[in-house]
Amino acid sequence: MPKVHRVKRTRGGQKTYLCVKCHEAIVAGQEYYHWTPYKSNTRQQHVSCGYPSQSQLRPGSKMARVDDAVQDADLGSLTSGDEIETALGQVADIAREVAEEYGESADNIESNFPSGNPTSEACRAAQEGLESWAEDLDSWTADEKEDDEDEDDYLERVREEAQDALGEQPQYEG
Ligand SMILES: [Zn+2]
Repeated sequence: MPKVHRVKRTRGGQKTYLCVKCHEAIVAGQEYYHWTPYKSNTRQQHVSCGYPSQSQLRPGSKMARVDDAVQDADLGSLTSGDEIETALGQVADIAREVAEEYGESADNIESNFPSGNPTSEACRAAQEGLESWAEDLDSWTADEKEDDEDEDDYLERVREEAQDALGEQPQYEG
């Protein structure tokens, strides 16, 4: 994971930095993040355009899309069991898409190495892990509120349970 630096653009210097998010120039006085993904060029992004996402930090990493989906679910902002169920369903959709990508990678590798190799096995494991996790997320249902339970306590409890379900996200072990 590349280190993310937060700096303020000072006057001077001929170089133009373009924000990778809004594509506007980063001008003197503005704060921005910069980071260098593995084997890639340094990227700049305004602090006002937000912290770089997992996909921005690890371009090409399939699992980073899932990390971002989990992050975007933002359970703390949701205010009903139904909303939380919907959010988990959306993460499940992304997980399934990414599972398919891992499956395609494994297929490609296996067409060259018919007996498999560690990378294809890791892709296959990530594919299967994501598929079964997506099923769990889809079938996840919020508990009913107890009659004597405070609304805030109830939401807090449901969010925690949903967070635990998201926390079961498999990782790519390649
Ligand atoms: Zn920007």
